[in-house]
Amino acid sequence: MKSDSTDLFGERPPARTVPVMVPVPTPAPYSYAVPEGMAVEPGSIVKVPLGPRFVAGVVWDGGDDGKVERKKLRPIDTVFDCPPLSKEMREFLDWVAGYTLTPPGLVVRMALRAPAAFDPEPMVEGLRPTGHRPERMTPARERVLALTEDGLPWTRSGLAHAAGTSSSVIDGLLAQGSFETVFLPPPPVVAAPDPDHAAPRLEGPQTETAAALVEGVRAGRFGVSLLEGITGSGKTEVYFEAIAETLRAGRQVLILLPEIALTASFLERFQDRFGAKPAEWHSDLAPRTREKVWRQVTTGQVRVVAGARSALFLPFENLGLIVVDEEHDPAYKQEDRVFYNARDMAVVRARIGDFPAVLVSATPSVESRVNADLGRYRKLHLPTRYGDAALPDLHLVDMRRHPPARGGFLSPVLLRGIAKTIEKEEQALLFLNRRGYAPLTLCRVCGHRFQCPQCSSWLVEHRFRGQIQCHHCGYAERTPEACPECGTFDHLAACGPGVERIAEEVERHFPDARTIVLSSDLMGVKRLRLELEAIARGEADIVIGTQLVAKGHNFPLMSLVGVVDADLGLANGDPRAAERTFQLLYQVTGRAGRSGLKSHGLIQTYQPLHPVMQAIVSGDPEAFYEREIGEREKALLPPFGRLASVIVSADSRAEAEAHARGLRQAAPRVEGISVLGPAEAPLAMIRGRHRFRLLVHGRRGSDMQAFIRTMLANGPKERASLQVQLDIDPQSF
Ligand code: ADP
Ligand code: ZN
Repeated sequence: MKSDSTDLFGERPPARTVPVMVPVPTPAPYSYAVPEGMAVEPGSIVKVPLGPRFVAGVVWDGGDDGKVERKKLRPIDTVFDCPPLSKEMREFLDWVAGYTLTPPGLVVRMALRAPAAFDPEPMVEGLRPTGHRPERMTPARERVLALTEDGLPWTRSGLAHAAGTSSSVIDGLLAQGSFETVFLPPPPVVAAPDPDHAAPRLEGPQTETAAALVEGVRAGRFGVSLLEGITGSGKTEVYFEAIAETLRAGRQVLILLPEIALTASFLERFQDRFGAKPAEWHSDLAPRTREKVWRQVTTGQVRVVAGARSALFLPFENLGLIVVDEEHDPAYKQEDRVFYNARDMAVVRARIGDFPAVLVSATPSVESRVNADLGRYRKLHLPTRYGDAALPDLHLVDMRRHPPARGGFLSPVLLRGIAKTIEKEEQALLFLNRRGYAPLTLCRVCGHRFQCPQCSSWLVEHRFRGQIQCHHCGYAERTPEACPECGTFDHLAACGPGVERIAEEVERHFPDARTIVLSSDLMGVKRLRLELEAIARGEADIVIGTQLVAKGHNFPLMSLVGVVDADLGLANGDPRAAERTFQLLYQVTGRAGRSGLKSHGLIQTYQPLHPVMQAIVSGDPEAFYEREIGEREKALLPPFGRLASVIVSADSRAEAEAHARGLRQAAPRVEGISVLGPAEAPLAMIRGRHRFRLLVHGRRGSDMQAFIRTMLANGPKERASLQVQLDIDPQSF
């Protein structure tokens, strides 16, 4: 008999071992011993020793690799009392790691973003009525007992408050045996949404579109719909129907939004429709809230999450629908540690979980558009604005014919437009996608330009702060008075405008108008939310803002949108520039005329014949897409070909360049895949590190990942001084 734990030779039998994915950049899970009596399964979240510390990891699939002698394996410390990550979730994390060429440990770390939430939330002490009547009745006691006739438990303070008594009355009843103490689960972070709380009466094409989405939800299978429609056509209203149906089926919903922290109005709208807010998920959450949301998503208590891209990595208990609103938005791309596009990964998540995904946009990405045209995605379209809201009347202002006054950036046409708008007590929005006062400062005497000492970029003047700053590394210094090169005082010139400079010009022309500048560097998220609400209430005449004003907000009094420099985004030579500019201009001009006011858009440009400008004013996005898709197809650019960028950076320029060359030479020969470069990366230096880039181009269907893995494996050894950054499907190329 061998029932004890020693064998014939007096040695302990090998313990059971399991692979555990730990949150560090390791290519494979580590093996750990499972102490006797500990129950773990794939997906269990466990606390394990790693070097000198303890970390949270996830028990992974497969056996252990047997690399470490079993006796030497360290044991798992504890299994958290928390639902294991589902098979689906593990498969998703593995997939993302493989696709993005990221060590899986780093991807798993994204799913474990609320460590304190692994232990259950403490139970709350509550009181349950026993039905026992106290010997002596008082009016206060009567009120309390009347409230608890249904036999459901209450918290002490909640009950005292509801009955309008002090808690000593409650204590008296407890002493009398009318209540007993019970432990209640912690209260939910958000109330349960009700799918039938306030369903709208859908109109015209909204009805069929919603029906198509609802049908997809009922089928409960994977499928992607592209919901396209001009701003204000009711896309949100329509996808709310799909959400309602998912809730009726008892499954959870994830809504991805590009700028969730700023879309308080979205949460309210959701509440109007469903009677409760969704849980929010983004980086500005307080840690306690974050933990609660994480926990309650894993237990299924939270039914709907509205979140930024990182919400995709929440371990939902029973996810049944993902909506990606503004699916074209560049904010979905994370370019830090794990390089991924949340829109694309949302589709993967839905495929693995076998449930529907809905991509929503007025100006879909070329990728999604092509997928819809090819029939991979179901195309749904809402052609007109809801109700009497009309699209703004758009005009190009040819800046060659209507130049601004010397030292200014606003053409007389636009200034007249603003004057008329505020006369009518309506609002004007001036959009310029550039923070600060001026993008470049130079010395008028010697021509010296202020450059970041650590990056290949100009220092941007921020006059409100009295600083010049680098927008790439955060370097800042006080705005100098003299030129460091020639020493001349008071001859430094600000070149070009940022929003602060436009505000100055506006104040010169309209000294009595109430002007607000909205820019992420001037205020935190809380202030921004308040300002946005104030604008919606009409507490500003002229709003000047960067792209954060373009997104999703509803300003009922906004009847003029002026684009200060429509050409700005076209200048950088990026093949995606046209698409981005089109989307941004379309979106920002769509801020006007949401409530039936007659509205206008004035777009200042030096290239009025540019296809993007023409597409915007003609009100015919189709022409733009057709042309853009045609050009991508000709050049075999995404989605007709594949791209990946490999950026090598090092303190020494020569080292970075040599390594990049070495990689290029190590590239395997594969039909249909070619490597361009190395060349200096678009930003040749960031934070003092020199950057060289290789662009890998592949025909559609090429296995880019295998190619790059081989290249890295055969390439020169990576020294610690080097960093190699891989970006599959880069945003700019
Ligand atoms: P989009 O998401 O396409 O910009 P929204 O769903 O935000 O459009 O709709 C624009 C406005 O019209 C919102 O205020 C919305 O509440 C309203 N709306 C749209 N459809 C309906 C409807 N069927 N019934 C009532 N209001 C609607
Ligand atoms: Zn810098």
